[in-house]
Amino acid sequence: MKNVGVLYIVATPIGNLDDITFRAVKILEEADVVICEDTRVTQKLLSRYHLETKTMSYFQHSQISKVDSILKQLSEGAKMALVTDAGTPGISDPGQELIARIREEDPTIPIIPIPGPSAMAAAISVSGMVEKEFFFAGFLPKKKGRQTKFYELAKMNAPIVIYESSERLSKTLKDLSDYLGSNVEVFIARELTKMYEENWGGKILKVIADLENHTLKGEIVLIVKRNIKKNKEEVEE
Ligand code: SAM
Repeated sequence: MKNVGVLYIVATPIGNLDDITFRAVKILEEADVVICEDTRVTQKLLSRYHLETKTMSYFQHSQISKVDSILKQLSEGAKMALVTDAGTPGISDPGQELIARIREEDPTIPIIPIPGPSAMAAAISVSGMVEKEFFFAGFLPKKKGRQTKFYELAKMNAPIVIYESSERLSKTLKDLSDYLGSNVEVFIARELTKMYEENWGGKILKVIADLENHTLKGEIVLIVKRNIKKNKEEVEE
């Protein structure tokens, strides 16, 4: 019988290295190898927990030979743990591509989630903006397809969650107000769990104006919510 291995998809901190589950540390310790985006980033986390597990890098569009090597190790019974630089692998990072390829090449390999932090969930949790559903847009296209994406977003009623860099935030807010209108509320969660963490929100035009005299740095989750006025019948119910 084939001695098949296992691939654990392990969520790691999005800043504060204390934000990791006991189970994640145990899995990272027991794994034969930790597959990471940037080995230097992951090494800091492993050192913090005194783990000496071997690491190997995997980044977007890694060569086929890399995937072949991971598949070979898994088919020989290796326990492998996939992590990303921050948060949950497979959410707007190279993890998705690797997981899809492994599922396609050998559906018998068990792929097990070890849940934990994600910037998206952390931002939603403090925003108070998501009542029921939301749309996760991830990173918006920078050039090609950007306009089409904004037309798509303009049709959504649910709050939209966007991953954005601090350098591009003002441009994206201006585009959002052009395509979605000025009657939208936005929420910005910056550097979550880190030393200069902050979060705030308000009417889009006010936030755009505030940012004109304010240079932001770091990583950002942006949430956009259309201010849909309840109609009379709903209010009276
Ligand atoms: N897989 C990760 C997750 O589960 O959140 C996301 C990876 S994606 C490559 C990185 C983006 O996530 C950043 O550009 C930023 O938009 C967001 N992000 C990551 N860490 C963050 C933090 N500490 N505060 C705010 N946003 C963060």
